[in-house]
Amino acid sequence: MVTITFHGGVNEIGGNKILIEDKTKIFLDFGKNFAKEKMYFEEPFIKAREEAHLLELGILPCMKGLYEKDEGCCDLGAVFISHPHTDHYDSIRFLKDHFPIYCGETAMNIILAREFAGQSIGEGYTIAKMTQKNGKEIMKDFKPFRTGDIVRDFSPIEVTPVHVDHSIPGAYGFIVETSGGTIAYSGDIRMHGAKKSMSADFIKKAKEAEPDVLIIEGTHIDSSKIESEDEVKEKVGKVISQTTGLVLAGFAGGDIDRLRTFYDVVKSQGKRLALSMKQAFMVHMLKDDPKLNLFKLNDPSICIFKKKKKQTREYEKIIESNYGNNIIDAQDVNRLQKEIVMVASLYDMTEMTEIRPVTGSVYILSSSEPFDEEMEISFDKLLNWLAHYGIPLYQAHASGHATPHELKKAIEEIKPKKVFPIHTNRPELFQRFIADIGINIELPEEGKLYKF
Ligand SMILES: [Zn+2]
Repeated sequence: MVTITFHGGVNEIGGNKILIEDKTKIFLDFGKNFAKEKMYFEEPFIKAREEAHLLELGILPCMKGLYEKDEGCCDLGAVFISHPHTDHYDSIRFLKDHFPIYCGETAMNIILAREFAGQSIGEGYTIAKMTQKNGKEIMKDFKPFRTGDIVRDFSPIEVTPVHVDHSIPGAYGFIVETSGGTIAYSGDIRMHGAKKSMSADFIKKAKEAEPDVLIIEGTHIDSSKIESEDEVKEKVGKVISQTTGLVLAGFAGGDIDRLRTFYDVVKSQGKRLALSMKQAFMVHMLKDDPKLNLFKLNDPSICIFKKKKKQTREYEKIIESNYGNNIIDAQDVNRLQKEIVMVASLYDMTEMTEIRPVTGSVYILSSSEPFDEEMEISFDKLLNWLAHYGIPLYQAHASGHATPHELKKAIEEIKPKKVFPIHTNRPELFQRFIADIGINIELPEEGKLYKF
């Protein structure tokens, strides 16, 4: 008998953790559950950083021997991560280090870049870290795969990763063969993005597998904006060309397509794109990835903004030693502001006291508002800062998620026997909108065992 259990991602966006049990066991994704954590925690006053607290509240699935501070054993084979958004992988930090973590190579590098540049969450629970003494340390047992690989290490379960297009590179769907039948899992997917052919590849492979079950995301089943990356490029280009002052831009750190869009526009207008140190470090970690073919950090159209800080972190030292000539500070931005497009989030607003944006400056928000898969942007606080400096806000964003019609078409094409919609706040709407194609749409319940 084979079972599927959903621990997270049910009636909510993110936190996906799908347990598949055959003679062996695997998880598909093991994401941080922002929605549930927000019910009980508020950083920095009360932090979701202990497995005991998260288990008590049902935020982490209760399985003996799974977690770092649990002395028992567990026969979990592996965790397969669909893509490097925190709501799909971040809770692996609570797992015992020996469980293998399968993900794409680019995904692994993005996760590592974040961990090396991020703050440790405290005692244990580390995915990777960088210290002056030991350099780069990776605690988890990453097993990177590529499209075309089939993972047969957990027989009778076989997992075939197939690339998909999403708002972060290194995104995959999975086709999982078990002794009881076939499961296809979309991860997060869009069909209107710059690399839509990758999503088409997944749909084709999933169709060929004739799956018994399709687990598919429905983030935007209830509302969707129709905008492509090309349209974002055009709109951003127009705003920048009309601006006589400093251009500030905010978008998700891992959204490499958006980063490339801004780079292209800025370069074509003879300006320079100022990246944050963290963004620069991610580009540095991805610099040899042939699939991404990213710009170089010593490119004349790029500079790296360094905040005034007391301490320089290890990752910042790497950037300083490799690209020192391309680093600028607040005084440089103040002087050169008409030539610069600076990537800046709410957390960079204190720098404005020294940058002093001139009249005619603008802010371009290029991520979903107010919810971003990585964090909740304090939108009101950002607007207050901008109002203080007389800076209007423009929005230009193409989503990482499929539109309602794209989802319907994909399901019709794949033709599974049964569909479980997850990663959506509105599964009932999903069920009604898709009802006319004659495929059984079952709304999953958290923690329930589904046999097949
Ligand atoms: Zn995602």
